Amino acid sequence: MTLAGTSTMTPTTTTIGSVALVGAGPGDPDLLTRKALRAIRRASVILADDLVSDGVLRFARRSARIVHVGKRGGCASTPQAFIDKLMLAEALKGERVVRLKGGDPFMFGRGGEEAEHLRAHGVAVEVVNGITAGLAAATSLGVGLTHRAHAHGVIFVTGHARADGTPMHWPTLGAAAAQGLTLVIYMGVPAINAIRAGLLDALPAHTPAALVQNASLPTQRHAVCTLDTLAATCIEARIGSPAIIVIGDVLRGLRELSMPMPKLTPQPRAA
Ligand code: SAH
Repeated sequence: MTLAGTSTMTPTTTTIGSVALVGAGPGDPDLLTRKALRAIRRASVILADDLVSDGVLRFARRSARIVHVGKRGGCASTPQAFIDKLMLAEALKGERVVRLKGGDPFMFGRGGEEAEHLRAHGVAVEVVNGITAGLAAATSLGVGLTHRAHAHGVIFVTGHARADGTPMHWPTLGAAAAQGLTLVIYMGVPAINAIRAGLLDALPAHTPAALVQNASLPTQRHAVCTLDTLAATCIEARIGSPAIIVIGDVLRGLRELSMPMPKLTPQPRAA
């Protein structure tokens, strides 16, 4: 399969099949690229992550086999080795395989690992970019991640521990943010207390912060707060995964711009 205009890295061995690693964007089907849409419409087999929205999957052919390889429905996530094996087997059978990932395939999406695996087995890989959730989250709040007056760069970072198991060093990231960089944190909700505490070592408590869940989808919810109140706000506004945390001065003045906060159930007061 070759998508017109898509750059294909030529493997060193003879090519015996191909797979397209396609970014499905943050959820809103209107945010798909035309190239992604073309690939989805052509695919005979689609391996879809749980972050891929139903609206995007509706573009697949009726005859396409859609394999959900995520945690949707509370099931355990599919082991990476199984996904690799399945992609390879289907490509070698001559199927038009699309590996569909939320956001961009190369942004915390294991796209690099999957591409390496396929190329090592002589399978050509095409990568189709998608709009990453961090960008969509900021845009949904009406702000950009850079601003001439407030931020001259962006750090996209995972809230998870690093690959070698060591935790992220949040004070270091906070120090970078203090130099005028916006922090965009993926998968940060489970580690929100550690993130807040570590960043407070380097950033003022009143640094603007925001959480955006389900960016770009009708189910989107968000909360705007400060670094100091980040963890409490996450609980109070009941923000859960998938969510992006944005921290930095680009969020200044957002209270006026932001949509109404979700309605909260009143909590009984302590006597
Ligand atoms: N490749 C994806 C990121 C995968 S990591 C991308 O480029 O967007 C999974 C994390 O992405 C989630 O835990 C969450 O932090 C973020 N995410 C993905 N889709 C999201 C959405 N619609 N709204 C908010 N966060 C999202």
